[in-house]
Amino acid sequence: MAFTLSIYPWVYVGKYDNNWSGDFIEQEHLSPEEESALPADELEALHNRRNSFPDLPLVNYTSQYGLGCFEGVKAFPQKDGGLKVFRPGENAARMARSMEGLGMPGVDTELCEKAILGTAGRNAELGFTVKYDPEWEKDSFLSAGSIYIRPFSWSEPGIGISLSKKPWLVVVNTAVSAYFSGDNFNAVTTDMIRATPKGTGWIKCDANYVIPCLAKNKAVQAGYMEAIFLDAEEHKYIEEGSSCNFFTLMKDGTLVTPELGDTILPGITRKSIITLAQDRGVKVEERKLALEEVLSEGAESFVTGTAAGITPITSLTHEGNKVSFGKGTPGELSMSLLKELKGIQYGVLEDRFNWMVSVES
Ligand SMILES: *Cc1c(COP(=O)(O)O)cnc(C)c1O
Repeated sequence: MAFTLSIYPWVYVGKYDNNWSGDFIEQEHLSPEEESALPADELEALHNRRNSFPDLPLVNYTSQYGLGCFEGVKAFPQKDGGLKVFRPGENAARMARSMEGLGMPGVDTELCEKAILGTAGRNAELGFTVKYDPEWEKDSFLSAGSIYIRPFSWSEPGIGISLSKKPWLVVVNTAVSAYFSGDNFNAVTTDMIRATPKGTGWIKCDANYVIPCLAKNKAVQAGYMEAIFLDAEEHKYIEEGSSCNFFTLMKDGTLVTPELGDTILPGITRKSIITLAQDRGVKVEERKLALEEVLSEGAESFVTGTAAGITPITSLTHEGNKVSFGKGTPGELSMSLLKELKGIQYGVLEDRFNWMVSVES
């Protein structure tokens, strides 16, 4: 996904101090048209000012020790003209669990959901939004844009080894363009370890991203799209991609994804894909998924996450041996599930599981 750091004007800043409260804040801006006409350096300076929260301390438990959590949520322009967010209540609930997992007060989930819906709605009213383009229907929304909403926590000032007791919640929005830019869907296993038993792998926290950033960079340098992590103890079972959950469709028609536990992040896309697959009669198993089994029995593989929805994996290389899945092109079930998910998200297919929630202003 092509992320941008063009933070939209409306942000939300909340704080815990015995209870949760906060405000929507309209940061400095011009009209979207005036901003896009600015010289590049002036626009960058404006974006940098909007990416600055002077009331928040620089030296704190988040910046020093990685005690921070975040979420990735998307708002999708609808075919009928509205703007809807995919399962924001799930993200708010996970944000609260993540914060509690790091020993800080969990965010009030209602406040968090309102901040998600309210920033996107207010920005859209100012014209900072992505407009629905019927052209997207031609490639089943593979090239469609959306709005990325990023809630994150930030601790109070601190330098001693301690936990955050009075965290902030900040929510910012940016535009994102399509993920599918190329045709490289080749993945490679990494011998780095993302998550260990009894660790923080199940928490969507800053600290979990150190190893994936390093491993993904190495994989990309070597010409791959994604790095695939194996389990810490036996180095035998597939766990996740760098920031996404892993699925393999076996040759016998069973769709398998690693079972949740302390080393797997409970992805909302993962959960949604399981629902969509089961709904069409595909047998889904959540269990340990051996690398050997994927390499010998896998017919299709893909990874899931908010960024791309589904990203096909056409081959997996382990210790120099490359194994292609099926014809070595994105699999039929992978693409069909992707199209169904995108169809629901962009409002061209019925939202039969009530996943989509309108933004608020
Ligand atoms: C966010 C994340 C995912 C995907 O979760 P979604 O809710 O589907 O976006 C998967 N793995 C890791 C490690 C993540 O941080």
